[in-house]
Amino acid sequence: MQEIITLKHGEGAKASYNLVKEVFLKKLSSPALKKLTDAATIGNLVYSCDSFTVDPIFFPGSDIGKLSVFGTVNDISVSGGIPKYLSLAVIVEEGFLKSDLIKIVASIKAAIRAAKVDIVSGDFKVVERGKADKIFISTSGIGEKIKKANPSFKSIKNKDKIIVTGSVGEHGISVMLARKKIFEFNIKSDCQSLNSLVTSLWMKFPQINFMRDPTRGGIASVLNEIHLGSKKGIRISEENIPVRRDVRAACEILGIDPYYLACEGRAILVVPDKISEEVLKFLKKTSKSASIIGEIDKGAKGVVLNTVSGGERILDFSHSFNLPRIC
Ligand code: MG
Repeated sequence: MQEIITLKHGEGAKASYNLVKEVFLKKLSSPALKKLTDAATIGNLVYSCDSFTVDPIFFPGSDIGKLSVFGTVNDISVSGGIPKYLSLAVIVEEGFLKSDLIKIVASIKAAIRAAKVDIVSGDFKVVERGKADKIFISTSGIGEKIKKANPSFKSIKNKDKIIVTGSVGEHGISVMLARKKIFEFNIKSDCQSLNSLVTSLWMKFPQINFMRDPTRGGIASVLNEIHLGSKKGIRISEENIPVRRDVRAACEILGIDPYYLACEGRAILVVPDKISEEVLKFLKKTSKSASIIGEIDKGAKGVVLNTVSGGERILDFSHSFNLPRIC
């Protein structure tokens, strides 16, 4: 039987990771691409692209327009660049409301202002009714490399601390609740530009070894990517993972693990032990929920979660969730 692509391949977890390696990297590998970082560093440029198919296109706290700017901006920021210029490609399904398009473009305008970037190239296409779902947006972005910042999997060392810049899961759960039309919760997406925060982090703490934004697949997937990329074990303390109570409650109702939910305005940092408290103090000035959630532990096999109840479990790449079109 012919193998087909399923929604699972788009979740950003193990199936996505394997497909990218097997289909794309095998044929298209370049020195920058095979590093599998959020953005490519080429000389003094940091370059990234992303596509957005989120469903619904408007959800509490944000929409596809903002998301398409911040998604690319944040990938450049966590990779050690200062985002400067974006391209914007929009594909719309015939029958889409012009007023919604105007609303989305206004949202894009607010987002580029917040992220301090300009859109310098664009494309607009319309496809027949039923040949796409409402609107899809792709952006790519160029940033200027911060000289002192050199994040890489190879720099990660045993005992490095793992820090998350804020509470996790709000973006993913806000989209899920909007999709399922459950309005008892008032949870807004955490979608925001990381440009200012992350640039000041790189300037002040260039010793930070690695950074990634936990978007699709949530913190569980990013921690697994860090484990695979660095070939080092990770131990996480569940009680230190910041998850809002309402997010946890909504997750219980929907049967979702918050650690697999996408964030769109958070970063995970891998930081040398000796500067970790100082980095945390810096983050706490703007984000009270920033937290040291664990460390690189050469004794750990994979990503090990020390649970609140005192046990431990492996926090694997998501296998069983079905959260398509979350960004
Ligand atoms: Mg990313």
